[in-house]
Amino acid sequence: MQNSSDVLIIGGGVAGLMAGIELVKNGKSVILLEKESVVGGQCKTEVLSNGDDEFRFDYGGHRFITNNEELLEFVEKMLAQDLIVSQRSSVILHQNKVYEYPLNLKNLLKVAPKKLLIGATFDTLKIILKLTRPDNSNFKTWISSRFGRTLYNNFFGPYTHKLWGIKPDKLSADWAGQRISLLDLKDVAKKLLFKSSKTARTYAKSYRYPKYGFGQLPLNMAKEFERLGGKIFTNSEVTDLTYTYNNIQSVHSDDNTFEAKEIISTMPLNEMSAKLGFESGLKFRSLRFLCIGLDIEDFSSHTWQYVSDFDLLPTRIQEPKRRSSFMSPKGKSSIMLEIPCNKDDHIWHMDERVLLEKALVDLKKLNFDIKENIIDVMSFTTEHAYTLMDVEYNDKRDATIEHLNSFENLSMAGRQGTYRYIFLDTAMETGLMAAKKLLGEKDITKSNIFNHRNEKTVIETKSVI
Ligand SMILES: Cc1cc2nc3c(=O)[nH]c(=O)nc-3n(C[C@H](O)[C@H](O)[C@H](O)COP(=O)(O)OP(=O)(O)OC[C@H]3O[C@@H](n4cnc5c(N)ncnc54)[C@H](O)[C@@H]3O)c2cc1C
Repeated sequence: MQNSSDVLIIGGGVAGLMAGIELVKNGKSVILLEKESVVGGQCKTEVLSNGDDEFRFDYGGHRFITNNEELLEFVEKMLAQDLIVSQRSSVILHQNKVYEYPLNLKNLLKVAPKKLLIGATFDTLKIILKLTRPDNSNFKTWISSRFGRTLYNNFFGPYTHKLWGIKPDKLSADWAGQRISLLDLKDVAKKLLFKSSKTARTYAKSYRYPKYGFGQLPLNMAKEFERLGGKIFTNSEVTDLTYTYNNIQSVHSDDNTFEAKEIISTMPLNEMSAKLGFESGLKFRSLRFLCIGLDIEDFSSHTWQYVSDFDLLPTRIQEPKRRSSFMSPKGKSSIMLEIPCNKDDHIWHMDERVLLEKALVDLKKLNFDIKENIIDVMSFTTEHAYTLMDVEYNDKRDATIEHLNSFENLSMAGRQGTYRYIFLDTAMETGLMAAKKLLGEKDITKSNIFNHRNEKTVIETKSVI
């Protein structure tokens, strides 16, 4: 079967859907291809059903934070009364102690062992006296020069190594610069000594969340897209492309061929590039989610618990009920363990019961004994959880972008499509930008989309909420 439209969108995550809605609203005929059986991508919510009980799990707990009022209005329109405001509470679990997150000196003084405190104090002095200067060579130097070696060795180093599966000195400092929403030691010390409220960066505690999990957002966006005349083909993986040196002529899935004047792709940058004749060398880190329904009212009072010990499986434990009470049945709760892995490694393929046994041993080491409270278990994976930002990624990404930009009728958007560690608000904005560019907005270029919100600050400190 042959299908043609003004625009073809690859990927039914929030970025692709956002682009689609904008284009059909402006009179374009649009077909969207999604390889899975449902839309949503990384913003889906899975359901664990056990009799009448339903436990809901996102692909890693999500929250919506933005400083873009128009985007917030759009999301409010999509979710209406189902959009609630929740509060974040996070802690770090480390060697049998519980630390507040973001780290703060007051809490460190109360909880940390003496050795760690003495080390952190020396580090702080060095930073205040400018004996240690910010060093952005790689992730390890970025952290150690701002937070000191003691905190690096205890918290950031082991956690980061576990999360990415490579040593932190092989990771780019970009990730730290954009994502570590912590107060640096100098700020904390100043705040404590001079009682200044100006020095320390604050970060967003409140966030928006859909009552029944983040999957509600893409599902409602898909309905809106179809209501406006857009067509969605699910179970339609793009397997192949026909192209000349500067133009994509047709796009193929197993059963169909699609033709369009313009193409917006949100599929992973490296995969798109390989289909267009260029091996990028870019990689992704994957996650396996272990989801456990529990017959207890509450597991803890925290949204997220970061597990920094290197030898324990998860990087984070989250309790979906802390985001919305509708995520688990009344009187019950659930937890999700985020376990980093690579596609097709031993964790990815591990039998679910074996994984659960291992997880229970680790949870017990963290003082959570839930064996007798388990109602049911499920697990699922996401291959493209994180763009692997190693020290060479920028050069590889630049070369890939240059190759893809040579195809005149192709625009890339979204988190995987631009190979950026961005949140869903920014992914949606990139989809909107790609659509507006096709609608003739002169200020938007393909490069703008790749670099959108590339500021080296913590974006979540600036929320409109
Ligand atoms: C663990 C985790 C936690 C997160 N937490 C938050 C959070 O708290 N707040 C927040 O704002 N953001 C969070 N994010 C990020 C957020 O999920 C993403 O930014 C957003 O979902 C990306 O949307 P997207 O449309 O760009 O990509 P995706 O959601 O990945 O969509 C791409 C779509 O393309 C499809 N596709 C891929 N290849 C093909 C192909 N060949 N043919 C057809 N279709 C294809 C995929 O199936 C997918 O549906 C988190 C992400 C992860 C992994």
